[in-house]
Amino acid sequence: MAVRITDLCISCDACLDECPTNSIVDDDDNPTGEEYYYVDPETCSECVGDHDSPACQAACPTEGAIVWDLPFNDENREHFTGSSLYKLPDEGIDNNQPFRKEVSMEDRKAGNVDSVIE
Ligand code: SF4
Ligand code: SF4
Repeated sequence: MAVRITDLCISCDACLDECPTNSIVDDDDNPTGEEYYYVDPETCSECVGDHDSPACQAACPTEGAIVWDLPFNDENREHFTGSSLYKLPDEGIDNNQPFRKEVSMEDRKAGNVDSVIE
């Protein structure tokens, strides 16, 4: 990871087919049980290698519905395993996902997608 979908999501479906890694699931399949869309952090690549910026956020009509989160890697593993915002599978979470180094950790902690990517 990663980007995260927030409770501002209106379940409009605009992002779903834009993801090059099929990391987005709809509200019916959100593993946290919340009624909005969800990004699997263990597969989200931040669109590195596919787009200049997160394609989901570019397609999203709702400000604040998709925000940055920390890189999904060993350093931040507990951030994802210890948060109710995420529900990780039992296996396959020992990977390190690509992330955009140009996005500061401050912006990631603030959850501010709009602060990046010119
Ligand atoms: S940032 Fe890219 S890879 Fe990650 S969920 Fe959005 S569209 Fe998919
Ligand atoms: S495009 Fe935005 S508002 Fe629509 S489903 Fe995706 S995250 Fe939710």
